[in-house]
Amino acid sequence: MTEKNYRPATLLVHQGTDRDPATGAAAIPIYQASTYHHQGGEPGKYDYARSGNPSRDQVEEAIALLEGGVQGFAYASGMAAIGSALSLLRSGDHLIAPDDLYGGSYRYLSTILPQQGIEVSLVDQTDLAVLEETIRPQTRAIFLETPSNPLFKITDLRGVVEIARRRGLLTFLDNTFMTPLLQRPLHLGVDVAIHSATKFLGGHSDLLAGLVTTADPELARELKRFQNAFGAVLAPFDSFLLARGIKTLKLRLEAAQAGAQILAERLRSHPAVNHVYYPGLSEFPGRDLHLSQADGPGAVLSFELKEKVQVAPLLATVKLPIIAPSLGGVETILTHCWSMSHAAIPAPVKRELGIRETLVRISVGIEDPEDLWEDLNEGLS
Ligand SMILES: *Cc1c(COP(=O)(O)O)cnc(C)c1O
Repeated sequence: MTEKNYRPATLLVHQGTDRDPATGAAAIPIYQASTYHHQGGEPGKYDYARSGNPSRDQVEEAIALLEGGVQGFAYASGMAAIGSALSLLRSGDHLIAPDDLYGGSYRYLSTILPQQGIEVSLVDQTDLAVLEETIRPQTRAIFLETPSNPLFKITDLRGVVEIARRRGLLTFLDNTFMTPLLQRPLHLGVDVAIHSATKFLGGHSDLLAGLVTTADPELARELKRFQNAFGAVLAPFDSFLLARGIKTLKLRLEAAQAGAQILAERLRSHPAVNHVYYPGLSEFPGRDLHLSQADGPGAVLSFELKEKVQVAPLLATVKLPIIAPSLGGVETILTHCWSMSHAAIPAPVKRELGIRETLVRISVGIEDPEDLWEDLNEGLS
């Protein structure tokens, strides 16, 4: 598979290894084994499953191929992937991250990293001058998320990479919302791409997983060392589910994105709705920047209701979406960001960031958009 540069749709289906080398089976089996026989006392390619196993290899190769990395790493969750990637930092280092970070990342960066002697500054990274002013002698890295969530602020990836390279800093990007199909950060010069594969890559709301990849062999060695030492690895069964999900990413994401565009346009002119945040809308600030670094607006949007009292009836009325803190599934997922995805962020901080109690996020699934619209419309009236 690796000799030819296949296009993304082909890579998604065939990945790095598309049939079991041992049997020719069309799907890589779930190698449900913790350890591997050492023939004559000598280890073979696999020796102990934390260090590597064929089921996990499949998704690790897949993410490296899809993002253009030299090696991929699969973890037990997106947060395990983020924590493991940030193990590249050392005590005494300073990290710059966006002020409207994903709630779980906010919790990790604002409470766990400081305990390990790593200082974190959360800033509005859409302003490159502010970002550059935040750099100190101890600054080691910039953590990025674009589009941000739930307000879809767009950060100039090329601009940040230019600053980071000039100042000798590492860059990390949480690429969960875009997936490698819509945004390929390593091609733009970002050092480490991170995914919560729980979302679009897995795609069926049936597993937790995280993926990391880098194009730098030195960073890859460090990440491998930490993955093996720390052990937050993806299990064989979950690796199988993830590999299966990745095969249909293009079909799912394109259908969901088309549905999101339809819903965003209709919500925009609905009398119960104050504002819609979606990079696919022509008037969306940051749309041109986003489309200069990504191939589409994605399948998640947020909207602001006019009144707080509209939230409860909406959540009580809609029938199709599951109401939950997640995204990227084949089913539509409706999130009340204030109380769910961003619950870990203190209320005054949320208010300051513009995340209000009236904000609702929709991860559009692959149902018929007309059914979704009728359902939402009922919930809004
Ligand atoms: C869900 C999510 C994570 C965390 O992933 P888990 O798999 O839940 O640990 C990180 N970043 C973003 C943007 C997410 O949406």
